Amino acid sequence: MGTFQMNKRVEILGVKVDAVTMAEAVEFVEKLIDAKKNSIVATANAEMLMRATHDGELKEILNAAELVVPDGAGTVWAAHHLGYEMPERVAGFDLVQEIMKIAPIKSRKFFLFGSAPGVAEKAKEKAESLYPGIKIVGTRNGYFSASDEPEIIAQIKSAAPDVLIAALGVPKQEKWLAAHKNELNVPVSIGVGGTLDVMAGVVKRAPRWMQRAKLEWLFRALLQPRRAGRLIALPQFVFKVHASKNKSNKN
Ligand code: UDP
Repeated sequence: MGTFQMNKRVEILGVKVDAVTMAEAVEFVEKLIDAKKNSIVATANAEMLMRATHDGELKEILNAAELVVPDGAGTVWAAHHLGYEMPERVAGFDLVQEIMKIAPIKSRKFFLFGSAPGVAEKAKEKAESLYPGIKIVGTRNGYFSASDEPEIIAQIKSAAPDVLIAALGVPKQEKWLAAHKNELNVPVSIGVGGTLDVMAGVVKRAPRWMQRAKLEWLFRALLQPRRAGRLIALPQFVFKVHASKNKSNKN
């Protein structure tokens, strides 16, 4: 964590995750916005942490990020299993809603980048109806080739948002943000996966009872069967975390 040494960090499979509550995460993001230091915020679920075990670039980016929130029941479980306090799950979708909720009074400007054509615009309309007065200063879909990048960067720069919401999927969003953060010069960029899809109503969020029962992953797999293959990462994650605990106990 570069800017403020405020949060306690828990190392899970080599990635340092901030042990923060939702309220603390929101407060920290607000500080990062004010600090204007081109900060990166990541939302780490089990799948992302698993990927970081074999993707060194992603791991480095996460460990250099100003804030890594525990997105997902798996991350909170892992911290507890390793003997650390992790107060609650801070889902990326919920974090974005909390920051947007206070955006009108704080006069924060957002840019929504990612998802299929039309989705970011729908998410913008939704945000404007949920959070009256919010300033969404630009949108851009997440499907592009390398030759489109200068134009995308120029579009974001000229919109000059306080917060860039990047929904390109893991690890594309993290790598893209890290590669361009100085050029973009946006105070806070957050990689949020499917958040714009959910805001736009293209993909449904799991009902509350399933979230509480820590079954959001199951809901997603049932709803988007193409994702079901990705579920294999979960038992692998449990196994790896357990193995890392035994290893550190022996040392
Ligand atoms: N996406 C994108 N550009 C790409 C690949 C994916 O904008 O090149 C979007 C996709 O449309 C979806 C999001 O990235 O809205 C990824 O969502 P998913 O729920 O799969 O996120 P993850 O689990 O990877 O964070």
